[in-house]
Amino acid sequence: MSKRPSPISATVDFDADGVQHGFLKLPISTDESAWGAVMIPVTVIRNGEGPTALLAGGNHGDEYEGITALIKLTSELRAEDVRGRVIIVPMMNLPAAMAGRRTSPMDGGNLNRSFPGDPDGTVTQKIADYFTRVLVPMCDVVLDLHSGGRTLDIIPFGASHVLDNPEQQRQALEGAKAFGAPYAMMMFELDAAALFDTAVESQGKVFVATELGGGGTSTPESLAITERGVRNFLIHFGLVEGEVKMPAEPQIYLDMPDASCYVQSEHTGLLELTLALGDKVEKGQVIARIYDMTRSGSAPVEYRAGRDGILAARRFPALVNMGDTIAVIAEVVDSLG
Ligand code: CA
Repeated sequence: MSKRPSPISATVDFDADGVQHGFLKLPISTDESAWGAVMIPVTVIRNGEGPTALLAGGNHGDEYEGITALIKLTSELRAEDVRGRVIIVPMMNLPAAMAGRRTSPMDGGNLNRSFPGDPDGTVTQKIADYFTRVLVPMCDVVLDLHSGGRTLDIIPFGASHVLDNPEQQRQALEGAKAFGAPYAMMMFELDAAALFDTAVESQGKVFVATELGGGGTSTPESLAITERGVRNFLIHFGLVEGEVKMPAEPQIYLDMPDASCYVQSEHTGLLELTLALGDKVEKGQVIARIYDMTRSGSAPVEYRAGRDGILAARRFPALVNMGDTIAVIAEVVDSLG
């Protein structure tokens, strides 16, 4: 059974030259607005023939590095700077971003677990469906800017995945490196089925993801890496002229070969991490302690590294619950792919 057309309409003309700022309008009917709409900001910058890039932030609403960098870019990038077409959506899951949350307050939806989406589903599923069936097919390359959000802090990296198509994998990996963050990663996903990544990759498009900090904020350092990376991405894929600017230190390559990279809590309590992001880890080393907050004088539970590598991500809040990811240990490798 074929799906009906998306209920979302764009106020911009994706085929027109020049700079346009508008909205992706999704009709809703609520107590506050009987005939209302979710209005997702979109900017389209087109200058003649060339490739199309989609720059996306706010797939998770509390990941501000990408949101901030893309909002800034919408007022900076000029049509004459571009060859082809750049589509910028700084806040894919607008209701989540407006609420400062990972997920949507309208339906609890986690956009990056809602793909390929559904035109007859929840608000979040309708947004996912619009990206899958309308925006992604227009594109050659997609950059999806993530970071840790409120509950994680993550070293800055561009990432790609192992794919069935070696040429598609090579182009994504080169894009992930050219983003020019201090690290580049071949990423293992815990559950890839409903990710934006998979919706894009399954259409044969080049997909680059990032992680760029976290804690539910941005810093001058994380924002500088993000803004430089977005420009590098556009330059690398031929949409903007210029030279890719790499970091002063040689880029470090990381691999996450399997699920053992993720250290998840089997306790509830107060978290002490013994390492900072980017620190070297040896297998068997104590990386975290969790303290029982209901009493004094009791020994903490120790968590040890299951592999060698570096601390690539950590839980950000000090309070930890059963099942929370405490740490992610990535393997440093000489080459990727
Ligand atoms: Ca994310």
